[in-house]
Amino acid sequence: MIPEPKEFRLTGGKMAQNAVMEEQECSGIGREEYRISITPEKIRLEGGRGTGLVYARTTLEQLRLIYGEELPCMEIRDWPAHSYRSFHIDCSRHYFTVDELKKMIRMSAWFKQNYFHWHISDDQGWRIECRRYPLLHKISAVRPGDHFGNYDSDEGEDRYYSRDEVREIVEYCGRFGIEVVPEIDMPGHVTAILAAYPELSCTGELVEVGMKAGIFKELFCAGREETFTFIRNLLDDMMELFPGRYFHIGGDEAPKERWKACPLCQKRMEEEGLGNAQELQGYMCNRIASYLQSKGKIPIVWNEAVYGGNIDKDVVVQLWTEDKDHQIRAHLDKGGKAILSMVEHCYCDYPYGMHSLKDMYELNMNPAELGARGGDSVLGAECLVWTEFIRSDARLEKLCWPRFAATAEAGWCGVRRPEYEDFRRRLTALFPIFEKYKIQAAGMEEWDPDEETAAKQTAGFQMNFSSEERDEVRKAQEDI
Ligand SMILES: [Zn+2]
Repeated sequence: MIPEPKEFRLTGGKMAQNAVMEEQECSGIGREEYRISITPEKIRLEGGRGTGLVYARTTLEQLRLIYGEELPCMEIRDWPAHSYRSFHIDCSRHYFTVDELKKMIRMSAWFKQNYFHWHISDDQGWRIECRRYPLLHKISAVRPGDHFGNYDSDEGEDRYYSRDEVREIVEYCGRFGIEVVPEIDMPGHVTAILAAYPELSCTGELVEVGMKAGIFKELFCAGREETFTFIRNLLDDMMELFPGRYFHIGGDEAPKERWKACPLCQKRMEEEGLGNAQELQGYMCNRIASYLQSKGKIPIVWNEAVYGGNIDKDVVVQLWTEDKDHQIRAHLDKGGKAILSMVEHCYCDYPYGMHSLKDMYELNMNPAELGARGGDSVLGAECLVWTEFIRSDARLEKLCWPRFAATAEAGWCGVRRPEYEDFRRRLTALFPIFEKYKIQAAGMEEWDPDEETAAKQTAGFQMNFSSEERDEVRKAQEDI
């Protein structure tokens, strides 16, 4: 089974053909905990008052896939090590249909993931019908071409999810105990929004929806009050659609060139006694976070947002890069919480030759660099897929599956995980599931490529980027 249950014991004999099925929700156990008891006469499922029964049924489905209808008698007791077990899909760079997202959600549910981090806004597109600011879906959702690295096409993207479609996704996730966590990335990665509302930037100049990959220099202006009004209204509009507890407000890859040259941003820094542009980002993030908190939400940010050292400790930080100057650790030392999603262990947009299934599985759930509180501050793990170079459902599925399952087990089992070979063996037994749900997963021979294949795949992936783009990214990174 995946994830591997905490306690599993075969008790001898087999279930009879006419065995009865019993289900019960229990109050005395954890909300995600479940128990399964199979005797010759009966299958009994017990689950905590959250999603326990959902997980009991999922495990039973896995057992049936492995053993067929003649299940051996057994006892299972199981609960997750971490409460936040997430998968991420970038729908800004490329749009995926509601049906395709449902397939990805269904499959993730099958491995007991419980959060869907939905990346709906970036430089290259805004993807949700917005009542308060309709230019977002009329202008920010449209780009006339794709010029990502060495890929050149006039096809572009012009689709967005209607409000009904968003509700459909939220409802579908809810069936499996999955909460949708929308992400509106800010103050960087907002070029698409600024294409519709240029008055929110430092220069006020008209920009186009991004058609290239990379790090863009346009940011929301942190000096203008109108920016904060816009963000609050936008969040209100989105909170109508997303009833969950968490809300992601980005904060990654925001080079400070614009802010350093903007009189309004400089004035804001002076008035608020902020020593540098990173602190200005912290200030902006705190204002937006506290608005979300006033609505009962828990804000999440990417790790760059803590670089100013002034972020509210109740803002959850999502780790994807290394902790260069121990700022992430400092945030956690104050009592902050973290979601782990380090690039080399969690990013599925890279070929298997760069991030093998084994690399994914061996995500360290208690990294020493996080400091003394270590594992206590870890809420869970997330696998991600960024889609600049993913233009088809088939490619999306192949890159994500089965790698998403590896992260799912890391989140559920935590530090006490079986060896990778054990995971591989169980995965092989469960592999028919991908066929059942029509997921075009990568075949076993592709999971852990040998050195030569890995080198070829790495070179192929690097070809996606032009050398200018690589230089620009390097330059921008120095200013984050
Ligand atoms: Zn400004």
